[in-house]
Amino acid sequence: MEQILNYIGGKLQKPLVDSWLDNYEPATGKVYSHIPDSDVLDVEQAVAAANAAFPAWSTTPLEDRMMMLMKIADGIEKRMDEFVAAESKDNGKPLKLARAVDIPRAVSNFRFYASALQHFASESHQMPGMAVNYTLRQPIGVVGCISPWNLPIYLFTWKIAPALATGNCVVSKPSEITPYTAYLLSQVCIEAGLPAGVLNIVHGLGSKVGQTIVEHPEIKAISFTGGTETGKRIAATAAPMFKKLSLELGGKNPTIVFADCDFDDTVRHVVTSSFSNQGEICLCGSRIFIERSIYDKFKTAFVERVKSLRVGDPNDDHSNLGAIVSAQHKQKIQSYIQLAKEEGGTILTGGEEVQVGGRCADGYFLEPTVIEGLDYLCRTNQEEIFGPVVTLTPFDSEAEVLTMANSVKYGLASSVWTNDLKRAHRIAEKIEAGIVWINCWLLRDLRTPFGGVKASGVGREGGWEAMRFFTEAKNVCIKY
Ligand code: NAP
Repeated sequence: MEQILNYIGGKLQKPLVDSWLDNYEPATGKVYSHIPDSDVLDVEQAVAAANAAFPAWSTTPLEDRMMMLMKIADGIEKRMDEFVAAESKDNGKPLKLARAVDIPRAVSNFRFYASALQHFASESHQMPGMAVNYTLRQPIGVVGCISPWNLPIYLFTWKIAPALATGNCVVSKPSEITPYTAYLLSQVCIEAGLPAGVLNIVHGLGSKVGQTIVEHPEIKAISFTGGTETGKRIAATAAPMFKKLSLELGGKNPTIVFADCDFDDTVRHVVTSSFSNQGEICLCGSRIFIERSIYDKFKTAFVERVKSLRVGDPNDDHSNLGAIVSAQHKQKIQSYIQLAKEEGGTILTGGEEVQVGGRCADGYFLEPTVIEGLDYLCRTNQEEIFGPVVTLTPFDSEAEVLTMANSVKYGLASSVWTNDLKRAHRIAEKIEAGIVWINCWLLRDLRTPFGGVKASGVGREGGWEAMRFFTEAKNVCIKY
């Protein structure tokens, strides 16, 4: 069986202790490769390689660094089909989604930060007649990047590209559940001629590899995307070590539909924002609040459209939803559907496993599920499920919907559907979320700050925010 290898010091290699983990294809439920069960020794080696590479990489002319990132982007694009297949096979998402979103976005991440590096400027402040200050922004050194399984290469490169662009060397860990595209990326980096040690990819478990990266005294900053509980643990370890921290965590995002929305367009988009990637996008809206005067009409149209979604083999272009990422995660989602029933919810559609058959007979498939009749404070409406499950709740006023929308501990994203411009601004101001989409969802401009508030994270990614995160600012004051 194929072995995925670590990328350390410019070489592909087995874990130092010859130990391996199974890599499952969620659509078939079968193991299709093995991944390194790396440990502290592999991380130590990666940190040593990154430290050795740092003096040269951090002083490489910007133009050369930019060209290298562009080459990596080209390399991913050239191997697009392999990346698409691997992203879908590891994660269970439809192949067409990986082709339309995940892989093009990974390419854009490298291109965006390659060009950002050419335009990134720092500030200067004059003290009239006395002095001038300028802000010197320098790479931090060796940084750690840890990413989750839901948008594997998209989120992995979203961290790595700005870290490399700003002159840092990276020790990274993709999710152990979806390692293959990161392995392909290491091959692309070798083909592109990225100097040894600049990027190191250590595969393995969060509790071993991830924790060692977070604890390592020579890793000066941690950029992490994943669950809130893991983020808490990382903060508890890294904060007393005074590491720079960017934490992108879980969400329980509200979708707010007002009676004056463009009805058909809203129904269509809200189905997408609920069930894309099997609902396994941190930005998916999972609590849908609908103004009471259109509640029944919206519910009928929404449920009808959800029923028409096809759950099936990710390789089939007719599938709208693929497989859930793992058997364990599927069980977690099912336990929440059961909880919703116990909490008094009514399942309007879905709630069951899907038997896809054929090569997918043992895969992990679930119906898209819509539930109504739940109190907004119940556990189903407060805890992150991270699957194809949404709730519908009516509201009577702006004040009421804001209370319900803001009642969760999370604050990642939101979407608001209305044609009333003044109301849209009012809601945007009051909603507790790092992102507010008005009449759209997942429309991303990479220059904008990205991230959540409350238990959805601290720090911001995207645009200059990431360039600032991965640099230390030093003030130089010159008296004249
Ligand atoms: P997770 O369990 O927190 O894992 C995320 C990453 O952290 C994985 O690589 C994991 O490795 C690693 N990890 C686990 N324990 C660790 C530790 N003690 N120290 C360091 N690293 C550790 O999250 P997930 O289940 O992969 O992803 C789903 C979560 O991510 C959801 O909550 C979702 O909302 C969130 N998410 C947030 C955003 C955002 O931008 N805010 C984007 C995407 C996803 P293993 O795979 O080996 O456990």
